[in-house]
Amino acid sequence: MLFANFGAWCQNSRMAGTLYVVSTPIGNLEDLTYRAVRVLSEVDIVACEDTRHSQKLLHHYGIKTKTVSYHEHNERDRAGELLASIKSGLDVAVVSDAGTPGISDPGFRVVRMALEAGLQVVPIPGPTALVSALVASGLPSDEFFFAGFLPARSGARRSRLADLVAIPSTLVFYEAPHRLVASLVDVREILGEREAVVARELTKLHEEIVRGRLSEIVSWFSQAGHEPRGEMVVVIDRKVIAGSDEETKSSESVASIVASFEAEGLDPRSALKKSARQLGISRDEAYRRLTAERSREKP
Ligand code: SAM
Repeated sequence: MLFANFGAWCQNSRMAGTLYVVSTPIGNLEDLTYRAVRVLSEVDIVACEDTRHSQKLLHHYGIKTKTVSYHEHNERDRAGELLASIKSGLDVAVVSDAGTPGISDPGFRVVRMALEAGLQVVPIPGPTALVSALVASGLPSDEFFFAGFLPARSGARRSRLADLVAIPSTLVFYEAPHRLVASLVDVREILGEREAVVARELTKLHEEIVRGRLSEIVSWFSQAGHEPRGEMVVVIDRKVIAGSDEETKSSESVASIVASFEAEGLDPRSALKKSARQLGISRDEAYRRLTAERSREKP
């Protein structure tokens, strides 16, 4: 149990140090807060995903704190060593290469272990690419779902997307440039035509925010000279565009056609396949609409 050790927390918090989770810039070195500079200067150890990478930032601000590596390959062992240091009274800051530790980056494990050991964890807020992309996207930001990186292989990616069909929130993904077009094609196929945004190289020299329908963004990045480059965040609207192909191919309810085939004795898989053929749409598209219809039917 995470907080069962309340006694240990009271005891430790009197003598132990603190674990700071410090957000750092996602490109522009000016995006480090005054508080982050102070904390990184005052702690005893800065645990970095890549010490050489973070040294550039520390050097820029004249911070001379000792650094150690803390990355996905040594996370488990190093987290134990860092906790031992904190228990002995040292303060430790954890940073990743860019943005907020724990957001598609190492950080979660050491935070979890520190809490289990009854130690104090303090966040030092700052940049994270997903929030910058979301707030500049112009898509609804009151409710959103961050899905991290989609799977690299199309089959796994499409099945992950099928899980997201019924989520009635703006969707945010991280994506690698060489997979962007293939991913957006799958997104359009499984989630339907939607408004979307690709926010590229945020806070950097070549920052670019491309807005449009999924099909328009796919054709933009498929043109010679527009090949996707750099780091990017994909933001997808919560709803299918009314009147787009997906909506107009048929106004018939997929659920009712599937139900009629099931009533004739077909198993759910075959019923879906036959319904898709009847509607002239792909099985994935039929599945997307079926899931969406069923989620709308839920009270
Ligand atoms: N911890 C980071 C954060 O808080 O955003 C994310 C780290 S994750 C390993 C790296 C991914 O974040 C990139 O592949 C890209 O999708 C996104 N990203 C990071 N910096 C970015 C930037 N400047 N512009 C757009 N996307 C960025």
